[in-house]
Amino acid sequence: MPLPPRPRGFIFDLDGTLYRGERAIPGAAEFLVELEKRALPYVFATNRANRTPEEVAAQLRSMGIACRSEQILTSALATAEALRPGRACIIGQPALIDALARNGIEATPGKPDYVIVGFDETLTYRKLATACRWLLSGARYIATNPDNTFNTADGVAPENGAVIAAIHAATGRMPEVIGKPEAPLFRSARRLLNRLHPGLNADFDALCMVGDNLDTDILGAKRLGICTILMMTGIARGPDAAADRRADIVAEDYAGLTQRLFSC
Ligand SMILES: [Mg+2]
Repeated sequence: MPLPPRPRGFIFDLDGTLYRGERAIPGAAEFLVELEKRALPYVFATNRANRTPEEVAAQLRSMGIACRSEQILTSALATAEALRPGRACIIGQPALIDALARNGIEATPGKPDYVIVGFDETLTYRKLATACRWLLSGARYIATNPDNTFNTADGVAPENGAVIAAIHAATGRMPEVIGKPEAPLFRSARRLLNRLHPGLNADFDALCMVGDNLDTDILGAKRLGICTILMMTGIARGPDAAADRRADIVAEDYAGLTQRLFSC
């Protein structure tokens, strides 16, 4: 789809789009200031489920990127928003467990309505075995995000997709996924923008997704009719992609994006 004549809101990916490692991508902080000047609202949407919005906001601020924790949407928050209250067997850290509890989804050692699987650095064999047991007895299966790996200072490390694969090997079941590229995270991002900016009332076709990943940011946003901006600052090695992953705008850097969006 073409760029909306007047984009009314932006959704930003984090890793590879606003920062890499410990450092902000050059021009990212200034681009957000430009959006503020133009009264264009934005939120940040991350597939990572094991950090609270406050932790993510503090990380961004430490890199010089101004933000408020209310602007941060994690897949943990989107998962809590997408599900009705109930009882859950949860693989996840406190950021996920607390977000779910605030929306009436309580962790239970007994028979659960849901098995909810999110990135968990404290994963144990016992947690895995318990989740598999409840899945084999018919619990609804939800995953916060499908990412197989993420980058650490020591190299590539397993993310939630690797645990989903382990559970699949044991049970044959695959989850309903909340995070990018699936729709629930984008729906939550749109709701968050509209909630933070009363009167905005933006539909998907008035929004832009800014991300570096063709398989999650771009694919997922395109499916919903969101304008897509691919930043060549992270994982993407080239803009060439199948039609369902072809971004509306490809920007080498934020100077290029600023010119493309605001020069006329
Ligand atoms: Mg990214």
